[in-house]
Amino acid sequence: MEKNKIYDVIIIGGSYAGLSAAMALGRSLKQTLVIDGGEPCNRQTPHSQNFLTQDGKPPKEIADLATRQVKDYESVTFFKGFA
Ligand SMILES: Cc1cc2nc3c(=O)[nH]c(=O)nc-3n(C[C@H](O)[C@H](O)[C@H](O)COP(=O)(O)OP(=O)(O)OC[C@H]3O[C@@H](n4cnc5c(N)ncnc54)[C@H](O)[C@@H]3O)c2cc1C
Repeated sequence: MEKNKIYDVIIIGGSYAGLSAAMALGRSLKQTLVIDGGEPCNRQTPHSQNFLTQDGKPPKEIADLATRQVKDYESVTFFKGFA
């Protein structure tokens, strides 16, 4: 993360909700910073249910794939830690 950079949007939380917002903003070429503490509410859950195309997968696997996809957008920057 660059110091003194001006972002259009700063998202606190980089799980499903934050990543979904970051993908839309990244696609819109908005300079976006995602700050994530890495403690999603479902972190103790072994398998996701009722989630089309992802049923039965570990939540972390789904979140890791989403993170990789969002990282493909150069306008999105990640910072690990709590805001
Ligand atoms: C036990 C359990 C089982 C579940 N099982 C299912 C299921 O089978 N199927 C299903 O569809 N849904 C399930 N859910 C619901 C699903 O997990 C939530 O709807 C989903 O995780 C919400 O996503 P979110 O991005 O809003 O929040 P979260 O996934 O909780 O992510 C919030 C993120 O924000 C970060 N954060 C918070 N505050 C800060 C801060 N100040 N600074 C930096 N980072 C911060 C956290 O560290 C975390 O990474 C389950 C939930 C729980 C608790």
